Amino acid sequence: MIAEIGQNIYIPFLDRLKIIYADMDGKYQEAADYYSFECTECEDNCCFTRFYHYTLIEYLYIKEGFHCLENKKQVEVKQRSLAVCRKTDEADEKGKPVQQMCPVNSGSLCVLYPYRPMICRLHGIPHELQRPGQGMLNSPGCGTFALKCHEKKRFKFDRTPFYMQMAALEKEMKEAVGMTQKIKMTVAQMIVTFGDG
Ligand code: SF4
Repeated sequence: MIAEIGQNIYIPFLDRLKIIYADMDGKYQEAADYYSFECTECEDNCCFTRFYHYTLIEYLYIKEGFHCLENKKQVEVKQRSLAVCRKTDEADEKGKPVQQMCPVNSGSLCVLYPYRPMICRLHGIPHELQRPGQGMLNSPGCGTFALKCHEKKRFKFDRTPFYMQMAALEKEMKEAVGMTQKIKMTVAQMIVTFGDG
């Protein structure tokens, strides 16, 4: 079903997604500048985390980025994605933990950096989030942030408006394509579904 969605339908939604992402990146940078936090040479690399992504719009944007890679790179990323999915499935079946690098990370760089999903953009810095029917949730930053910046007074970084904008865009996008199924996928799982572009 996802593979059948035509570019003419989803491209205008991707244009709107780019605007939301730019706002997110701006707010993240503002917070990072406040803390003087740099996400470089981090031993606890968050690209080892098994992040799940929940939106069709992020899936389609990753797909767009993947197909902009040169063919050789696409093949490499696809092969790494298949290996990651296979190893993850094996470990899950045995109930064993597994930690693997995201297949899009090559030489410590994200080869789809401009296309990376929301959580990759926001991870690391302490934030607040208002969930419907719940109070404001306060979350700490990542381990590296805690080590480097624990003495600084907290900067207000509210993710709520971004989550709301993403949810509204996703709803509209799904209505436009008539899709009701929920999405929960890692980047590796997304990439193995992409055809040759
Ligand atoms: S998509 Fe990019 S930033 Fe996100 S986990 Fe993968 S390599 Fe890291």
